[in-house]
Amino acid sequence: MSRKTVLSLMRATGVLHLGNYLGAARDFAALSVDPGYDCFFGIADLHALTSLDDPEALRASTRAVARDYLAAGVDAERAVLFRQSAIPETSELFWLLCNVTSAGELQRSKTFQEMSRKQPENVNAGLLTYPVLMAADILGPRADLVPVGEDQMPHLEMARNIAQRFNHRFGETFPLPEAYRKSAIRVPGLDGLGKMSKSDGNGFGIAESPERIWELLRLATTDPARQRRSDPGNPDLCPIGHLHRYVSPAEDVARTEEGCRTAGIGCIDCKKVLHGNVVALLAPVRERSARLADARVEEVLAAGADRARERIAATLATAKERMGL
Ligand code: ADP
Repeated sequence: MSRKTVLSLMRATGVLHLGNYLGAARDFAALSVDPGYDCFFGIADLHALTSLDDPEALRASTRAVARDYLAAGVDAERAVLFRQSAIPETSELFWLLCNVTSAGELQRSKTFQEMSRKQPENVNAGLLTYPVLMAADILGPRADLVPVGEDQMPHLEMARNIAQRFNHRFGETFPLPEAYRKSAIRVPGLDGLGKMSKSDGNGFGIAESPERIWELLRLATTDPARQRRSDPGNPDLCPIGHLHRYVSPAEDVARTEEGCRTAGIGCIDCKKVLHGNVVALLAPVRERSARLADARVEEVLAAGADRARERIAATLATAKERMGL
């Protein structure tokens, strides 16, 4: 069986939270040590420029994301971890691909329209051409598989269209990338209002101290109908109940759910059990993070950039040649 190339770009938006870990980073760590896959994990700092407001924050969060992926267990010897901006070939490929991309398709993109509404004062051309850069990210390393959530599916579809159009006009150059379906996990936020998300600040970092995690869990929303300790609760309506199902062993889930429904245990007791399990789950992550010096993170990123460049430069050379450059 030939090895499949997996590519994923992570947005450079600061430390990873528990949802990122359970929904993405943990899978990436497993893929990175699976001999069936060659993994390219990029940190999308170029993409971040479309809504840039603070250069220092961008620099810091690019490194923070790299550090957290390593802490989550991504094997840097096998997987290629790199900054998107360290590969100038990707930007050059982007330009080539712009010329086989329909402007209308970009304008109709839902993400473009949404982002234009979100930052009406800054509807820049980067926002419009974002999917072409993403196509260059994917097609440059000749990725077969791209782990994507539902929201990114239209972009992957666009990358496939671009590859197809290029192949049709200039000869078979890019393999058509396919979605790598992850387990559909949706970790709830501690505010009980939706999914755990960086932008909503309703989670905790995966390398956070046990004390800090407790501070946040202690204040987390629970079943709103359970007002008093003596009221029975419903774990189905409680973010803590949902978190138990993602994190706790089956017997703890059964015991806390029973205790909640019968008012046998209070919310704080239930949170303490969850806290113990979260801390145990993340202990290896926290330990790896503590051992990781900034210099080591930079070293991994530099080595990853060299490896990624080599592969992407070869694709770019073929594409240029085929286009008559
Ligand atoms: P955020 O919404 O926190 O900014 P991203 O959109 O950057 O997170 O997502 C990075 C990865 O983490 C994606 O693969 C996404 O599917 C996953 N992810 C993000 N939030 C969650 C969550 N609450 N539950 C499960 N997976 C999540």
